[in-house]
Amino acid sequence: MPADAIGASTMHNDLNTMKNLKNNPQRSKELYDLCSGEENERDKEIPFGIIDASLIQKICETNRYGTSENGKLDSCLFILTSYFNHACLANAFRYDYGDVMIVYASDDIKKGEEICISYLDPLYGFLDRQNKLSGWKFTCRCKLCEIESKDPNCLKRDETRKEYNKYEKGASPKEIIAKGEPLLKKIRESYTNRNEFKYVLADNLISLSLAYSHLENISKSIECSEEVLTLMDNPLQYIMRMGDIYMNLAICYEIKGDMKKGAKMVEKAMELRFCKEMDHFKLLYPDFIVSSHLR
Ligand SMILES: [Zn+2]
Repeated sequence: MPADAIGASTMHNDLNTMKNLKNNPQRSKELYDLCSGEENERDKEIPFGIIDASLIQKICETNRYGTSENGKLDSCLFILTSYFNHACLANAFRYDYGDVMIVYASDDIKKGEEICISYLDPLYGFLDRQNKLSGWKFTCRCKLCEIESKDPNCLKRDETRKEYNKYEKGASPKEIIAKGEPLLKKIRESYTNRNEFKYVLADNLISLSLAYSHLENISKSIECSEEVLTLMDNPLQYIMRMGDIYMNLAICYEIKGDMKKGAKMVEKAMELRFCKEMDHFKLLYPDFIVSSHLR
């Protein structure tokens, strides 16, 4: 994303926040309380109805939520969700629908347990996550970070995966398979001493599954996607966008003529994308042709 596009979008977000606050001055305490506390900003008393532009800019800088769709960057400030703390392996997951954000539980949450969301894509490698989070001035000690900090193969695996992801962008499905299959073997070996959260292995299998699907090798595509399902611990299945994996499996099983299994996969995809209605689901997967037995 070019720097000027990012600058324009963030400026737009700052101005919108100021405009919204002007129209809803009763929300100023909630908003101003989001300041990080630097330079004793937190103790500053701001009279009702006053728009403190410099403080709002600082608040937006730390708390804004950005999405990038069709090369267009959108930034919004969601006051309530800005109060959630971070965990890469979070027990809640957020989805935005334009200017509406919904937070769903992605794991069983005990009474009194803190609800956290992830501020970044938890599928970034361990070091990348730590570097990005240092911008918020804290170190994450979630279960995933604890496991990865003790995993001697983690950094090398993350580096290999980064290189592969770069290669994958311009590669044909055949090239992806030629490079991805030997890599799969190496990644498996790197996890010999670790049983949980093998998301790099899952990521590689997803890439291979989609490549096989493009080449119409449906059996291999199913084999890879089904293995991904065995690797999914909660809440990893939400992080890995497993709804998409179930959709790939639904299409594969339908191509093979197993409509019953295809329908089951759609049901699972709906569950993971928190859809109760088919109309909601069709908004998320507009290209998916819903078979008659699912309507
Ligand atoms: Zn973490």
